[in-house]
Amino acid sequence: MTTVHTLTQNPVQENTYLVYDNDTKEAIIFDPGAFTPAEEKELTATIDRLGLRPVKLINTHCHFDHVFGNAYVVGKYGLQLGIHPLEQPILESAPMIVQAYGMPPMTPSPAPDYFIHEGETVTLGSATFEVLFCPGHSPGSICFYNRQEDYIIAGDVLFRRSIGRTDLPMGDHDTLIGSILTKLMPLPDDTVVYPGHGPTTTIGEERRENPFL
Ligand SMILES: [Zn+2]
Ligand SMILES: [Zn+2]
Repeated sequence: MTTVHTLTQNPVQENTYLVYDNDTKEAIIFDPGAFTPAEEKELTATIDRLGLRPVKLINTHCHFDHVFGNAYVVGKYGLQLGIHPLEQPILESAPMIVQAYGMPPMTPSPAPDYFIHEGETVTLGSATFEVLFCPGHSPGSICFYNRQEDYIIAGDVLFRRSIGRTDLPMGDHDTLIGSILTKLMPLPDDTVVYPGHGPTTTIGEERRENPFL
């Protein structure tokens, strides 16, 4: 069994997810949002407090708010970075976009060490995450579905009562709606959704209540 711990950080309140195996305490860090030294400290303090041993670093997609902490996590924990191949240009342009927004400079992310594709699985101890390709908000957005425990790490694809924005470079509204309808809505009603921003929800709730669908 696994536990999902949420840490909300940085100027756009992005959710960093520490998903860990309850027995071994091995953890996947999804989308480290730590931007300032204080946030980096908070991330490490949380990992230490929970007694975790980070073993994987994965970005659901590479908008700056989801990759701010990549360099810190790679340096601190010696992890390899996995992303979808279509996100590489987004990852590379992140520091420039941050500058364009007038924010303090970010430490550029290391290059990805490997690519993650739809149909593959990511393992954590005895837990398995199916990779679902859900483009639209970003060209290479991927979600990670733990079928056995019925939850999904959804990035910025689906939010509680909302969906990812599609006005950013390489975003596309129809593609995003298509991804949600074909990849996420077929999941069971009780599937818990852990989004990149805001509170958790369930697939059933969003099927009934989400005004964008
Ligand atoms: Zn995003
Ligand atoms: Zn985001």
